[in-house]
Amino acid sequence: MTGQQLRLYNSLGRRIEDFVPSADVVGLYSCGPTVYYFPHLGNMRTYVFTDTLRRALRWKRYPVRHVINITDVGHAVADSDTGEDKLELAAAREQRAVADIAAFYTRAFFDDSTALNLLPADVYPRASEYVEQMIEFAVRLEELGYTYQLPSGLYFDTSKSPGYGTLALLDIAGQREAARVEFVEGRRNKSDFALWRAEEPGVRRVMRWDSPWGWGAPGWHLECSVMSMALLGEHFDMHTGGVDHRQLHHVNEIAQSEAYLGDGLPWVRYWLHGEFLLLNNAKIAKSSGPVPRLADLTEAGYHPMAYRLFLLGGHYRSQLDFTAAGVDAAQATLRRLVSRVAPLRPLPAVESHEQAVALLPDSGGEASKTALGYLDQLDAAIANDLATPKVLATLQDALRDSDLTPEGLRVVVASADALLGLGLADLDPAEVDNRRSVEDLSAGEVETIERLIAERTRARSEKNWPRADEIRAELDNLGVQVTDTPNGPTWQLR
Ligand SMILES: [Zn+2]
Repeated sequence: MTGQQLRLYNSLGRRIEDFVPSADVVGLYSCGPTVYYFPHLGNMRTYVFTDTLRRALRWKRYPVRHVINITDVGHAVADSDTGEDKLELAAAREQRAVADIAAFYTRAFFDDSTALNLLPADVYPRASEYVEQMIEFAVRLEELGYTYQLPSGLYFDTSKSPGYGTLALLDIAGQREAARVEFVEGRRNKSDFALWRAEEPGVRRVMRWDSPWGWGAPGWHLECSVMSMALLGEHFDMHTGGVDHRQLHHVNEIAQSEAYLGDGLPWVRYWLHGEFLLLNNAKIAKSSGPVPRLADLTEAGYHPMAYRLFLLGGHYRSQLDFTAAGVDAAQATLRRLVSRVAPLRPLPAVESHEQAVALLPDSGGEASKTALGYLDQLDAAIANDLATPKVLATLQDALRDSDLTPEGLRVVVASADALLGLGLADLDPAEVDNRRSVEDLSAGEVETIERLIAERTRARSEKNWPRADEIRAELDNLGVQVTDTPNGPTWQLR
């Protein structure tokens, strides 16, 4: 491996660890969408994070087999064990067949994935195609004595799982009181969860299968254990998802999988979770009503890559506030990046650190040393738990550095983009240009800009240069370009 050791934050143990794969091909499983509605911006943040992980592994030349599941059955409303299935509810709401709902929203997920330039997974298994295997899995757990049956279904007895809740940092005393508000008649421990959800008497589900526990549908957690083992082997290296899965879904996946395998080994060694996107300081969740999705942004004139850039400007483990000003600034930055990079094209094809280093001519020369320095910085940043803000900053520094030769700069830009995935090699500058005219601004926006300019003029007259620079940067973020003339400053939108 060239460069720094890849280090990642493992939710299992909550610490940064060296990533050491256990096999020639890294098995990576990412909990995918429940296809009952459009993915929102917060959902897509999780997949951009997973994509960054993919790119980091590629940069380090680890071959990867990536699986993202499509949940088209089994996910009950409110992530509960009883009640209606999310897809069936959507089908009733939209008066369409369940299969149509699943196909339509699966397509929407793929559209957003493509627009955001996500590397495609190797397999996208559908839960509905694995129900027989889920039943077999639950039968095995029953034979091993991990389950009990109630009229509402088959339940996993979490008191029989010695390490239950380790991922969530649940203590032994607290685990039985795990945050489950739902009341299930006869459930032995609050943390016990359904492996099979039986049909209620007199209620016939649309999606139903026969099982040893009667007609019904699988529990939500079962599909991920079954499909990941079927496609990646019993043990594999990495499992990812949104941070909301760390307390319940992944805890239950681990409990049932380790019970099923019974070999005393950890089922999966590295668990990585992406943080929430906050909308006006509120978690974006579909249950809280309509929330913005990528199409809302593109209709408003933003390029999908502006959203990607906005996300990469924050670390995946930090909550990120979604604001219009933030996406505006990202779009302005993207526009500057693209106009600066366009004259350098064509960029060389780069995927890994090793490749990038080999592309530098005359490795002893000063110019190559400068370029190598930047490659090392990129490498150190991504190896340090996927520090994308630092990768971006390094790219910006390189674009300003006059010591880099055009050849060296091309390699550095291509390398940064191999990690960022912004498509800098061929993004059309015209596409990123949603330049607004001054007439489009609201009175409030104009007032803010003019107040800032007046403040800057005052700071300059007081020779308070740091403050003047600060305000200039603020204006820059708003897409405002200030020109100082003998008659005072004028401004325009970039
Ligand atoms: Zn899952």
